[in-house]
Parts: sequence; structure tokens; C-alpha cells
Amino acid sequence: MDSSVKTPKQWMTEKFQEYYHLSYQVEEKLYSKRSEFQLVEVFKTPFFGNMLFNDGLAMVSEKDEFVYHEMISHVPASLLPSIKKVLIIGGGDGGTAREILRYPELEACTMVEIDPLVIEAAREFLPTMSVSFNHPKMNLIVEDGIKFVKETSESFDLILVDSTDPIGPAQPLFGPEFYKDIHACLSPEGIVVSQAETPYFAMDMQKKLLSILNDSFKSVGLYNYHNLTYPGGTWSFSIASKKPNMTWDKPVRDINLDMKLYNKAIHQGAFALPEFQKQQIAEFLK
Ligand code: SAM
Repeated sequence: MDSSVKTPKQWMTEKFQEYYHLSYQVEEKLYSKRSEFQLVEVFKTPFFGNMLFNDGLAMVSEKDEFVYHEMISHVPASLLPSIKKVLIIGGGDGGTAREILRYPELEACTMVEIDPLVIEAAREFLPTMSVSFNHPKMNLIVEDGIKFVKETSESFDLILVDSTDPIGPAQPLFGPEFYKDIHACLSPEGIVVSQAETPYFAMDMQKKLLSILNDSFKSVGLYNYHNLTYPGGTWSFSIASKKPNMTWDKPVRDINLDMKLYNKAIHQGAFALPEFQKQQIAEFLK
């Protein structure tokens, strides 16, 4: 072919809001299948590596997944003397489980992902994250997280709700019923952390989630992280415990694991919220 003829660049566009789209240059579509829950796609990109999209929304990229997965895992883990039994709801790419499985004291990591196609896509095209699926301490269950927490008789030191946005199968994961069942399977000293959307586009959802946590838990907090591929750049995690007076920004132990992002200063800084966010959620924090 005439070398002067340039092949047009291909793009994958996340239509996050009508007024806000994010486009990623792509080299190849590696996976595309529709499950009963969502369209699951993986694209190979020149800058972000392989990227997973569920229903057209960016879930993880190989380039920046360390931000989300280190912040959802090591902030709560450093607030507990040890983590023996961890439950992950969602988390189908495997990145959160990979970080949890690094703790030598861990006895078991139970991951409950509703969509087998996300697991299949991650196994094939996100190997640095789905490496966790083969870990001997990994207990991977394909089920609705709502059903699992309602029926389990197990108790967990740490529960991580690593879910998609509050639409489709993830919608009930942002509801009061779910957190009553979470409360029932969380150990007395345990901590629950949840994907809590973004202060720039979903302040109402953050307030709703924190209000629900405030009803069930004695300590409630919120912390922020900043990655490349979530719209607006700043997103949050909620954090809650049955124990009162938790000082969320003060780790109780040093995490002696190699990190790409997490350190004590990042941990403390994550709880320093912008004024517009702090003012709107202050009533729910305790
Ligand atoms: N880090 C990503 C984010 O912030 O959007 C999410 C990671 S992971 C891809 C989210 C997973 O939650 C998806 O694979 C989705 O299938 C799963 N999920 C959604 N609703 C669920 C439910 N009710 N039970 C279990 N998993 C669920």
C-alpha cells in the first residue's frame, strides 16, 4: 500500500454525559461480547494499554489502574492491625484482589462478580490484574453481590464494594438494604469501603450513599483519588466502620509493600476534601 496513505486513527469514545465525552485512540478491539448485564469490551490503545469498558464506560486501563486499586485496598488495610478475610463485591478485572492478596497475613479473599464475561475478558486481556484469579487464597464466585451478602454466614474484616456506577445490576449496591446486609457480615472491628462516584458530577449520589452509611455505621468517612481515565479526574471512596471515632487519615500500621502511588502522605492527603465537597457532606461524616 502507498506509504503516504495514512490509515485513519480509530477512537473509542466514552459518552459519560451528553455534554462530556472522553475519546481514546485505539489500535484494536480485542474483545466485545454482550452478557445479560452489559456490553463488555476491551480495546488495545497506544497510550493507556488495554482498556476495559462496560456499556461504553471506562472501567480500568493498564496505564492507571494502580491508582484506583492501591487506593481502594491500602487505605483501609493500613487502618486495620491485620486483614485475614476480605470480601470484594464486583471487582471483575481482578486488580483490587491482586492488591489484597499481597498481604502475608491474609487467609482468604472472596470476590463476588456478577458477570462471567468480565472475568473472561480480564483473564484474556488484563493479565496484570487477573493474575489474582489463580492465587491459592482467591475464592472467586460468579453471583449477584446483593444475594451473596444477604445469604452468607461468614464474617469479613474488610469489605470492598468495587462496583460499576449505580445503574443496572450495580444500582442496589448503593441502597440501604445492601448496607444492612453488609453490616451483618462485617466483623465488629471491620471496615467497608465503596466506590463512591465523583464530587464533580455525582454529589447527590455521594450524599445519598453517605446518608445510608450514617444510618448503619458508627464511623463514616470519604476520601478522594485522582486518576487519568475517570471523568473529571477526581473520584471518591466512602469508608465506614462499626467502631466509633475512627481517625481515617492516620494509618495504624506501616504497609511494607512496594507501591506505585500509595504512601502515608497520599493516605492523609486523600481525606483532605475540597471545600465544595466537604460542606455538602459534613453532616454525614463521623
Ligand atoms: N473500577 C471500576 C469502576 O470504578 O467503575 C469498576 C471495577 S469492576 C469492572 C466493576 C464490576 O462490578 C463489574 O465487573 C460489574 O459486572 C460488577 N457488578 C455490578 N453490579 C454487581 C452486583 N450486583 N454484584 C456483583 N458484581 C456487580
